[in-house]
Amino acid sequence: DRIARKRDREFSQFRERVKDSDQFKVEQSVFDDATLAALYKLVQDGYVQAFGGPISSGKEATVYSALGDEENGEVAVKIYRINASNFRDMREYLVGDPRFEELGGDKKRVVLAWVRKEFANLKRAIKAGVRVPEPLAVQRNVLVMEFMGNDGRRAPTLADARLENPETAYEVVKEYMRRLFDSGLVHGDLSEYNILVSNGELCIIDVGQAVTYHHPNSGEFLTRDCANIASFFQREGLDVHGDELENWIREN
Ligand code: ATP
Ligand code: MN
Repeated sequence: DRIARKRDREFSQFRERVKDSDQFKVEQSVFDDATLAALYKLVQDGYVQAFGGPISSGKEATVYSALGDEENGEVAVKIYRINASNFRDMREYLVGDPRFEELGGDKKRVVLAWVRKEFANLKRAIKAGVRVPEPLAVQRNVLVMEFMGNDGRRAPTLADARLENPETAYEVVKEYMRRLFDSGLVHGDLSEYNILVSNGELCIIDVGQAVTYHHPNSGEFLTRDCANIASFFQREGLDVHGDELENWIREN
């Protein structure tokens, strides 16, 4: 009918606009029609008003800055590639999680579950009192979240930031890890590269792979996270050890 035709026309125009815009030229492969439809839905629902440039392009996803609604201002939009080459690795992180059983081997379903898992993990982290970007919306393979920045410029990672007080930073990270663990989650990829320093605040990111304690390897992941964090802060001059950190997290 007429309304459907109008909708189709508007969507085509949106698609042409996105395909023509410079910031998306680098990432053609991400924007299959279904991804474009997801972006379009987010625009229509008011979560995104305009797309900015790419912030980072990783193995599974590209993160863009964008203009969100009036309340949120700048937002970060993380778009996962459905054809992520290492979706088998992704599947490993869904094992044993009672929230995502019965996914089978379908690549697309694994990626879509992953995005919902990242959204759910962000929510859970916030509830546990851990500073993470606030998740705002999820649509298919696209996650919209709070943009972490310093006066509009994206926040550096802990690896790039100059720490004035590593002792305090370590205490904060340690407490965040304990709170996450208490809420039943292990980050699984925690290091100085997945912690941002935003307006003097430490913020944990990239929680898509975070697993619940049901996961058969959650203990191993916690050990690895603790080793990464301890070795970063050792290089910052602190006398800390991964095994001590792990014991403290488990016992407190
Ligand atoms: P990688 O494979 O490099 O770990 P990834 O695809 O898993 O990346 P993230 O680690 O979530 O994605 O994000 C990649 C980079 O994008 C971060 O290092 C950070 O610079 C930026 N970034 C992610 N989320 C945000 C955010 N909410 N606000 C500002 N910048 C962000
Ligand atoms: Mn990351």
